[in-house]
Amino acid sequence: MIPSASSSQLTASVDDEVLSRMVRTDQMVAVRRSVLSAIPINVVLSCVAALVALNAGRAFEGLCWLSLSLMVNGVRSYICRWPFAPWPGIVPENGIATSPDARPVGWHLRVAATMAAVSGCVWALIPLLCDGYSSPQAVFYLTVVCGICAGAVTYGIPYAFVPIAFIVPALLSVAGCLVYAGGFDNLSLAAMVLLYLAALVRGAVHGDRSFREGSRIRNEATAMAVQLRKAHAQSIDATQQLAFRASHDSLTGLLNREGFTDAATLHLAAPDGQRHALLLLDLDGFKAVNDAFGHKVGDRVLQDVAHWLQRETAEMQAVLGRWGGDEFALLYRLRDERQAPPEIAQALIRSISFATAHYGGHLGVSIGISVSGDAEVADMISFADEALHEAKRTGRNRYQVFDGALNQRLATRRDVERDLLQAIESRSIGVWYQPIMSSDGSEVHSLEALMRWNHPRHGHIPPEDVIYAAASTGVAEPLLRHLVDEVCRGMRKLEAAGSSLATVPVAINISPREMAQLAVDDIVLGMLKLRGIAPRRLQIEITEEVALDTHATRGRLNALSAAGVAIVVDDFGVGFSSLASLRSEYVRQVKIDRSFILDLSSSPGNEVLVDAIVQLGHSLGVQVVAEGVETQAELDVLRNLGCGLVQGYHLARPAPLAEVMAWDAARSASAAAKAG
Ligand code: C2E
Ligand code: CA
Ligand code: CA
Repeated sequence: MIPSASSSQLTASVDDEVLSRMVRTDQMVAVRRSVLSAIPINVVLSCVAALVALNAGRAFEGLCWLSLSLMVNGVRSYICRWPFAPWPGIVPENGIATSPDARPVGWHLRVAATMAAVSGCVWALIPLLCDGYSSPQAVFYLTVVCGICAGAVTYGIPYAFVPIAFIVPALLSVAGCLVYAGGFDNLSLAAMVLLYLAALVRGAVHGDRSFREGSRIRNEATAMAVQLRKAHAQSIDATQQLAFRASHDSLTGLLNREGFTDAATLHLAAPDGQRHALLLLDLDGFKAVNDAFGHKVGDRVLQDVAHWLQRETAEMQAVLGRWGGDEFALLYRLRDERQAPPEIAQALIRSISFATAHYGGHLGVSIGISVSGDAEVADMISFADEALHEAKRTGRNRYQVFDGALNQRLATRRDVERDLLQAIESRSIGVWYQPIMSSDGSEVHSLEALMRWNHPRHGHIPPEDVIYAAASTGVAEPLLRHLVDEVCRGMRKLEAAGSSLATVPVAINISPREMAQLAVDDIVLGMLKLRGIAPRRLQIEITEEVALDTHATRGRLNALSAAGVAIVVDDFGVGFSSLASLRSEYVRQVKIDRSFILDLSSSPGNEVLVDAIVQLGHSLGVQVVAEGVETQAELDVLRNLGCGLVQGYHLARPAPLAEVMAWDAARSASAAAKAG
C-alpha cells in the first residue's frame, strides 16, 4: 500500500492549499516506493547489458558503463532514505522519515527527477556498447532500452517528471543514433522510437494526473471523515455536558433533585434484594449565616457542607444530592449493622459543627430517615421529608425515623392537602372567637379569630397544619381571603344582633409564611373595603420574626397600620431580639407567650420576666396581653403585676360566634344585675 498523507491529523478545515500539500506528500512517498522497487530491475538489466558487451568483446566499455550505472542506482536508492520536512499539520504514516529541519517535499521531488535524468543519461550511453546501434547486439540493446523505458513509465505513475526525465535522454539517444546511421529502415525506426517516446510521455502525464486526482479524493474523504469524527466527538461531549448540567447542582457539584431521583431509582431497581436508607438533611441555622455574612459566604458554607457529606459517606457508596436550598439527600444500601441509619445520622449530627465551625457559628442538621420496604423513590422521599419535618418540629439538630405514627400523619396531610381548596370553596373552614379581657374581668377588650376545620375523616385539623398545607398546595391566598371574609361576616352578624361585641376589634393571625409570600396589606384592606368594614375594627397578630423581617414585610405592616389596622406581636418573648420589635413604629400590642404564664404562680423567674415586659409596655405605650391564662392563681399574679389584658381558658375558651355572643349577653346581664 502506498503510504499517504491520509492519516494526517487535521486541525483546520480542508482547504485547497492543505489538500495540494497532502497530494504532494503522497506523490513524494509514492515516488520513493516506486524508485526503490525499480532499482533492482535496473541493476539486473545493467548487469545483463554489461555481460552482453563482455561477450561481444567490449569488456572495458561494458565494465565502465556498469560501474557508472551501479553508482547512479546506489545514489538514487540512498537519496530515497533522506528525511524530508513535512508540511505543517500533515503527518505521514509511520515509517516515513521526516525531520522538521530537512528539505521540503518539493525539493526532494525535484532531486528525484534530476536523479532519474542522470540515470536516463547513463542508459543514453548504451550506444558506446553497440557502435551506435549498428553492431549485431543492437536489437538486444534496443529492446532493453525500450523495455526499461516502458517499465519506468509504468512504475512512475505518481509523478510524471521522474519517468519523463529518465526516458527522454535514453530514447533520444536511441533515435539520434538511428538518424545518424541513416538509411530508410533506420530512419523509420528512429521515427517509431520518437513516436514511442511521445506515447510514453503522454502516458506518464496521464498517470500523474490520475494519481493526483485519486490522492486528492482520498485525502479529502479522509479529512472529512476525521472532521466528522471530531464533530461527532464534540457533539457527544456537548450532550454529556448538557446531561451533566441537567442532573447536577452547579454550586456544589452534587446531583440535583432530578439527578438524585434518577440515580436513586436506578439504585433501588438493582435486583440484589437489599434494603436502602434515604436520609434528608436540613441545615439548622443556615439562614442566620446567610443573613449575617451574606450570600457569598452562604454559598461557601453550602459547598463545604457538600464536601463534608462526601467525606463522611465516602465508604458507603452513597448517592448524594442537593435537594434544594440548604437541604441535602443521601441514599445508601444497608449492608451491615454499623451502617444503621440512626448511627449514620447521629455521626453526621455530631460532626457537622466541626465542619462548619470556621464561619464563626455552629451549624446543626436535622435529619429525616426512611428505609425502603418496597416503596418507590418518590414515596421514600416524602416519608423522609415527613420525618425531617418532625425532627425540625421537635427541636432541631436531631434525627427522626419515619414510623407508623408519621405514616398516619402523612396520610392525614395528604388528605388535608387534597381537600383544602374544596373546603375553602364550600366554606367548611370556619372561625371561632376567643375574648381578650381586661384583667379585672370588667370588659371584653377584643376577640381573637381562630381558624377551625373539622375534616370529615380526620376531625379537627390544627390551624398550623392547614396554613402549611395551604402554602404547599398554592391556596394560601384563597384561604386568607376566605378567613378575612368570614371575620367580616362575623362582625356584620354582631352588628345585626345589636351585640355589645360589635364595637370591639377582632384580631386575625397571619403566619410568617403568609406575610412573606402574600400581599397581605392589599388582600386584607381590599376585603375590608369590599365588605364595608372600618380597618380600625381589625387587628393583625404576627410573630416577632415577622415584625422584624424584610423591607417588604415592613412595608406591608406600615400600610396596614397607616390604614388603621392595629399590629399585635404574638408569642412575645420566645423569639430573638424581642425588645427591638417593641420599638417598631407600628406595634400597638404584645402578647406574652403562654410559656411564661404557665406556672407563673410557682416560678419566680417567669414572674420577673413578665413584670419586666409589663413595665416596658407601660413606658413605651404598648398594650401587654398575657395569653394562656388557665388558673385563678395565674390571673391573680398578673393583676398584681399590673398586666391590663388577659386571654385564656380560665376566662373564656374559643367558641363559635353564636356561643360567644350568648356568653357575652349572659355576662352583661349578670353585671347589670350586680350593678342593679
Ligand atoms: P396563637 O395565635 O398563639 O393562638 C392561641 C392558641 O392558644 C389557640 O390555639 C388557642 O385555642 C389556644 N389557647 C387559648 N387559650 C388557651 C389556654 O388557656 N391554654 C391553652 N393551652 N391554649 C389556649 P389554636 O386555635 O389551636 O391555634 C393555634 C395556632 O394556630 C395559633 O396560635 C395561631 O398561631 C395559629 N392560627 C390559628 N388560627 C389561625 C388563622 O386563622 N390564621 C393563621 N395564620 N394562623 C392561625
Ligand atoms: Ca394569636
Ligand atoms: Ca400566641
